[in-house]
Amino acid sequence: MIKPQLMTKTATRHKLRLFDTHCHFDFDEFAASFSEQMSVATQAHVEKIIIPSVGLSNWLRVKNLATQYPVTLRYALGFHPYFLEHFSDEQLQLLEDELSQRESACVAVGECGLDAMVAVDASLQERVFIAQLAMAQHAHLPLILHSRKTHNRLLQLIKQHRFTQGGVLHAFSGSEQQARQFIDLGFKIGVGGVITYPRANKTRQAISQLPIESLVLETDAPDMPLFGRQGEANHPKYLIHVLEELAVLRDTNKEKLASQLWANSIELFRIDE
Ligand SMILES: [Zn+2]
Repeated sequence: MIKPQLMTKTATRHKLRLFDTHCHFDFDEFAASFSEQMSVATQAHVEKIIIPSVGLSNWLRVKNLATQYPVTLRYALGFHPYFLEHFSDEQLQLLEDELSQRESACVAVGECGLDAMVAVDASLQERVFIAQLAMAQHAHLPLILHSRKTHNRLLQLIKQHRFTQGGVLHAFSGSEQQARQFIDLGFKIGVGGVITYPRANKTRQAISQLPIESLVLETDAPDMPLFGRQGEANHPKYLIHVLEELAVLRDTNKEKLASQLWANSIELFRIDE
């Protein structure tokens, strides 16, 4: 006969746990009923969430949320390339100060990177990105990378500046070869709603071929709605559907997949469980 205690242990081991490595949970869409949104996410198996910041405007907000929900929430500090309108060089010093006094809930630098599709001066984007690369290296923190049509330039900069702390290439879309170049530099690939779109053939094909150790899940909520939910705000509660699609793509069982992806995320962000 199995002792009740052992049965509980087995049940815990097989419980599905999901890690949303990129969710803008501090955005206004979720503010009105935040505690309810949190429990909806938790009920949908999402047990950890990283909230990346976009700049000075929301550092305090993401920090406060992580303090209020210390079990589930972690955060990252940085400058998103979309939000450089009010940027000034003194802000870099503020980031450096924040990182040097950080709490353990601050697990990365980001969201940072480059975007060739926005009307923000490219040389300013690069300057701000390079500064963050150096700070993350110095603080021994991984990066949460944003890249739109800038994969090659980011690869060059990461190599040139000898960045070795790894990170995640968030909301990946691209070819297997591009993903592998980031993996070779110690990065993981953020798998989100993109793979639920039948037309995203190249990305779906790439994700199906990459080493499983190099993948992590994310929603990018409230952005990047899943296929069939276009026009709706995305939510971490839908992360399970990304997992299910990934299990189909890789022809594997979702429980096994979930536990591997959980382990990848914990390792990448050096989280003490
Ligand atoms: Zn984002």
